[in-house]
Amino acid sequence: MSTEASGYLQQFKQAEYTGKNRCTPCTVVNVLIAAVGGGAVGVAVSVPGGAAVFALSLVAIYFRGYLVPGTPTLTKRYFPDWVLARFDKLEDERPEVADEEREPEAVLADAGAVEPCEGVDDLCLDESFADEWYDHMDAIREGGTEKSDLSDVLDLDEGELSFDEHDDALVARYDGGRLGQWESRAALIADLAAAKALEGRYADWGRLSVTNRSRVLSGLRIFLETCPDCGGDITMEQDTVESCCRTMDVVAVSCADCDARILEVEHDQ
Ligand SMILES: [Zn+2]
Repeated sequence: MSTEASGYLQQFKQAEYTGKNRCTPCTVVNVLIAAVGGGAVGVAVSVPGGAAVFALSLVAIYFRGYLVPGTPTLTKRYFPDWVLARFDKLEDERPEVADEEREPEAVLADAGAVEPCEGVDDLCLDESFADEWYDHMDAIREGGTEKSDLSDVLDLDEGELSFDEHDDALVARYDGGRLGQWESRAALIADLAAAKALEGRYADWGRLSVTNRSRVLSGLRIFLETCPDCGGDITMEQDTVESCCRTMDVVAVSCADCDARILEVEHDQ
């Protein structure tokens, strides 16, 4: 298919249930329904008729994400959560989780970014690291330098980099493709500033994989005390969010003033 024709067809896809939002269990269930339906028509009417029904059903599943209306909701309700959780994991799977991945806590401790809290059995931000981190955040926010900083960090051409802001995510694109996403602009500012601060404090920073670095950076966001975007207070609450296949309980860290989502961590019931 030419890219133009494929682009033309793509607009008919229901974004809510296709592409990265496609629910694999629903798709499997619907393909089975299509096969049974096509088979029944094949037996009762004619084999070409059955094949046509099956083919049309697959087209519908491709574009709509489902054949039988309501299956996304039904699978969510009736499939056991552990099955759905496995599909979520498969779809989230990241390519380069290498053996040499380092635990975020270990990296942050070695960098002197966090240290044992005084009097409480927990980790706290090191004061000098916190100062540096917040200084970098202020500079990025005031200068509006997210794009140039991100291209520096990832060693990419700034001209090819763009941001797409949605209600619940900030998506970075590079050369037309999807590069990565953050919960909000606030989360991006926190990560960029932390990357600058860690680079000078952790000798192997540049040698960690991009995935590993991003795990360290998002782990650090839990220590934020004010919003990187508006300076408001940070709140932590339990929330329920929808993924492709199911609803999950998460601990959500957000800004009380501008509502920016800073971090979202799934927690087991
Ligand atoms: Zn805020």
